[in-house]
Amino acid sequence: MTTATQPIDSPTAAKSTLKKPKPLPAPNTDFYELYGTLKPEELAVVKRVREFMESKVAPVITKYWVEDSFPFELLPAVTELGIGGVGLNGYGCAGGSLALLGFVQMEIARVDPSFATFMGVHVGLAMGSIYIDGAEEQKQKWLPPMARLEKIGCFGLTEPLVGSGASGGLTTTAKREGDTWILNGEKRWIGNATWCDVSIIWARDLADNQVKGFIVENKTTPGFSVNKIENKIALKVVQNGHITLKDVRVPEANRLQGGNSFRDTAKVLKMTRYAVAWMATGCAMGAYEAALKYTQERSQFGKPIASFQLVQDLLARMISNITASQCLIVRQAQLFDEGKLTDAHAALAKAFCTSKCRETVAWAREALGGNGIVADYKVARFFTDCEALYSYEGTFQMQNLIVGKEITGLSAFI
Ligand SMILES: Cc1cc2nc3c(=O)[nH]c(=O)nc-3n(C[C@H](O)[C@H](O)[C@H](O)COP(=O)(O)OP(=O)(O)OC[C@H]3O[C@@H](n4cnc5c(N)ncnc54)[C@H](O)[C@@H]3O)c2cc1C
Repeated sequence: MTTATQPIDSPTAAKSTLKKPKPLPAPNTDFYELYGTLKPEELAVVKRVREFMESKVAPVITKYWVEDSFPFELLPAVTELGIGGVGLNGYGCAGGSLALLGFVQMEIARVDPSFATFMGVHVGLAMGSIYIDGAEEQKQKWLPPMARLEKIGCFGLTEPLVGSGASGGLTTTAKREGDTWILNGEKRWIGNATWCDVSIIWARDLADNQVKGFIVENKTTPGFSVNKIENKIALKVVQNGHITLKDVRVPEANRLQGGNSFRDTAKVLKMTRYAVAWMATGCAMGAYEAALKYTQERSQFGKPIASFQLVQDLLARMISNITASQCLIVRQAQLFDEGKLTDAHAALAKAFCTSKCRETVAWAREALGGNGIVADYKVARFFTDCEALYSYEGTFQMQNLIVGKEITGLSAFI
């Protein structure tokens, strides 16, 4: 493939006295300079993550994505990177602000939304549940090995027959017998479940009908089994499982002591929706950067297609969506720091950024023509991965109903 910045390889061009064309600008997805809002030490972490993602993950990830498999070989390097438990403080976690967590997830998704989802499930959902709803002894026991990635976690809320309605209708049950709980039911779509060590399982207590959280050790607990969900078209690197719990016995010591109703589950979801908004923005950035470079290099009618007005319109719309999303999520982080981040703030950010991502990746795919549907050109991966970001952690509609309740004062939920 020739590039737009290469001189035309002809004898006439060689003899020409005309000046060489100016090199075209590299993609810049920090259009409003929002990376500058980070503290210098946090920016250094983000730069390390970018370097890792570009040098270690980018060269291999399409192969894993096509094969539906997870790059276990990269986990030691992630541990060395020191981002296990980023945004969580104490207990051996990487710490830092919630803005740092957001920027790190955006950087990871900019290269691979699956890898960001793996981290989102492990750090945000699994470690986050223990961090937010666990007792002090539970945090001390579980968080340090999870921060070192020695134990990987997953989060089991969704069921085969209960998705959006999880707040009111979980069918997985928990029955207490002395100091033991007996869990029965099924969980669907659970990221990392096929291979991880620790599952946070949410179940309805038969005694008081409230949702409670349990820490289940996957590999050693009788009655706990997982089947991989095959044939996905999005986030193919993430291994999603269908969990069956058949008379699974869990000690009271493994019940999340602060998880006593769905309100406590929702505290975890608020933080992970916050993070998905950043991931969706990263996904859009990755697609845009690939599309911009492609349009600068691809020629039709004797000119780079990036010089055509309608292609520039597509590119301008993409960077506008990305910049609007970035402004919103940086403000989201400030609201958290000010102690003001509400469920509705996080829901609005998740809905807005995932829907803008969906538009952006579609325009990126369009800008690549036929090559937009071939995984080797990267954009196809972002294009399909965005579909999962749009639906998981609560669909677009469910987020808008949370916002709707806040702005109207009326709940659309039963
Ligand atoms: C790749 C992937 C990874 C996931 N990882 C996890 C995980 O790790 N852990 C976990 O617990 N779950 C996980 N999920 C599940 C995810 O959170 C659910 O898919 C999501 O909440 C939607 O549930 P559902 O798929 O059952 O759709 P449904 O709830 O059946 O919804 C189908 C459609 O109906 C609409 N709808 C439903 N109710 C209403 C309403 N009241 N008003 C308007 N519209 C409505 C929805 O918006 C949607 O468009 C994952 C899902 C995917 C795809």
